Amino acid sequence: MTIIDKQHARLRHKKILKNLDLLYPRVRCALHYDGAFQLLVATILSAQCTDTRVNLVTPALFAKFGMAEKMAVATIAQIETLIRSTGFYHSKAKYISGAAKMIVEKFQGKVPRTMEAILMLPGVARKTANVVLSVGFGIRAGVVVDTHVSRLSGKLGLSDKKTPEKIEQDLMRIVAREKWNTFSLQLIQHGRLVCIARRPRCGECVLRTLCPSAGKFDKKIPQKRKAIRSSNALGVKLHAKKR
Ligand code: SF4
Repeated sequence: MTIIDKQHARLRHKKILKNLDLLYPRVRCALHYDGAFQLLVATILSAQCTDTRVNLVTPALFAKFGMAEKMAVATIAQIETLIRSTGFYHSKAKYISGAAKMIVEKFQGKVPRTMEAILMLPGVARKTANVVLSVGFGIRAGVVVDTHVSRLSGKLGLSDKKTPEKIEQDLMRIVAREKWNTFSLQLIQHGRLVCIARRPRCGECVLRTLCPSAGKFDKKIPQKRKAIRSSNALGVKLHAKKR
């Protein structure tokens, strides 16, 4: 990349961030929780599951085991029963139980506040750690890279890397530290509302003039189907006329 290319890329990134700020000025984590431990559990549950589904499950779970001390003495079977509908519930129950036990035994019942320590908990990788540290404690240790952030970073040309860790490194260079938390929430929101995985709505997207992928996902209708569609449309019109 030449110096001019780099300058163009920097300017484009800056404009994307500015537009996201205008578009989503007040974003917040969609998970329902009370305190860092519940946020940790909800984030573990959100793997391969929607936040809406997690929010349906956690009230009953937290009513019984809302604190690390209580969760640590719950049996795996008790946890599984309460989280079954979030999918992968065998693994999730093991992780939640293991994390609660470690928090009680090793961290005096408190969710640790450093990346190094939080990554020791079972089932906690950088994404979960970043959510808990940033949303739960306001500590900016990195950028949350979930499926939306990873997908949109590629589409918007913010990163050409394939692994969440490498994408995170690219985003940490592009986005100012104080915006790390807001930025990933904005990208998640844009991924849910506009840049939808199966069919991005490029025509309605305010980022389309800045996005190298704009329009690449427009569905092309095969000629044959096009002809059938127009004859159907004509048929409907004729039918309406007769009436
Ligand atoms: S222009 Fe299309 S591909 Fe690019 S961010 Fe918007 S919806 Fe996604």
